Amino acid sequence: MYQHDGPMDGRPEQLTAALNGATPIGWWRAPGRVNLIGDHTDYCEGFVLPMAIDRDCLLAVAEADGGRIRVRSLELDGVVDLDAAGRDDPRTVEPAWGRFVAGAVQVVNERGASLPGLDIALSSTVPAGSGLSSSSALAVALTFALAQLGELKLDRREIARDALDAEVRATGVPGGLMDQLASLYGEADHALLIDCRSLDVEAIAIPPDLAVIVVHSGLPRTLADSEYAQRRADCERAAGGLGLPTLRDATFDQVRDDPRARHVVTENERVLAFARALRDGSINELGPLLNASHASLRDDFEVSTPELDQLVHALMEAGAMGARLTGAGFGGCVVALTAAKRAQRVISDATERYQGVTRLTPIPFVAHGSEGARHSLAP
Ligand code: ADP
Ligand code: MG
Repeated sequence: MYQHDGPMDGRPEQLTAALNGATPIGWWRAPGRVNLIGDHTDYCEGFVLPMAIDRDCLLAVAEADGGRIRVRSLELDGVVDLDAAGRDDPRTVEPAWGRFVAGAVQVVNERGASLPGLDIALSSTVPAGSGLSSSSALAVALTFALAQLGELKLDRREIARDALDAEVRATGVPGGLMDQLASLYGEADHALLIDCRSLDVEAIAIPPDLAVIVVHSGLPRTLADSEYAQRRADCERAAGGLGLPTLRDATFDQVRDDPRARHVVTENERVLAFARALRDGSINELGPLLNASHASLRDDFEVSTPELDQLVHALMEAGAMGARLTGAGFGGCVVALTAAKRAQRVISDATERYQGVTRLTPIPFVAHGSEGARHSLAP
């Protein structure tokens, strides 16, 4: 896993250099996200509460002759070289990260865009494969850029849908829409309550005295795709058994004896309670909701690992208000809340405890709510 130091990392200069002297006609960026609460609810048309973070995928785009789209990444090897008219099959493109590019190129072509030849250089400060959705930061930045360059008039919701479509074409994994919506609708110092049925997004301020801590467990996400597909199937089966389109409509009484469905129903309630507490400034209610979410993901939905449990435990021992695994599970990151003035102390205590028990190297950072995807003429 690679790490960057933050926004002042000289990326614009490196990206311009990677374009081999061509002058960029535009810059596009899209952030990753951390999900504060509401996991495995998006594909059940439930509620989620992510925050776009101050880590993003940045694209520098230059025009090129020849009807090809060529893309380089500062982090991953290889040159992606595709037909601008979208004739490449996203599932077979090499290098494999180019599948996201091929997905985006194909989707905007199907929408009616006619793309010129392009040279694109990209760089992402979202750590890949950690549950912070580097794939969506990439897919949203690309879809946003290609839609605009192809003169499509799409609103942010349509770009989110198309970016998801691009990701599904690239990976074959039928994800929910949370990550793309978060990347498009982010606001500085706000989290986003998203209703995954109506796709309504409400920005809710994070009080300045509260810190959002993200800690990578030092374990890559393994099994995540196959287990994800199984959990999704479990949820669809549970909804079908109740005669409902999705678990969004299930009540607690209906799912009392089905742990998978019970997770979804109780998690939706926790997301709404968390949003209420954040709006009302009832800060003391937030931590217990995070802890209850982790317990439900661990015991009912069974997507945690002993290491993620250890990390949550270490953060709580270090004085966090609450902590939970975030994203699909099976490795990746944990999110915690603390009083802002205690954040550094909690981080150093927790990482020391966790390292002592697991011998893994955790990677912590404080995440800030950030603006959603945008285009600019200069970096
Ligand atoms: P997550 O979205 O949780 O970070 P995924 O496995 O869904 O994890 O997405 C990671 C994939 O996204 C990488 O394997 C790669 O294909 C693509 N990706 C992420 N960051 C970059 C980057 N900087 N350059 C090229 N591709 C990237
Ligand atoms: Mg992803």
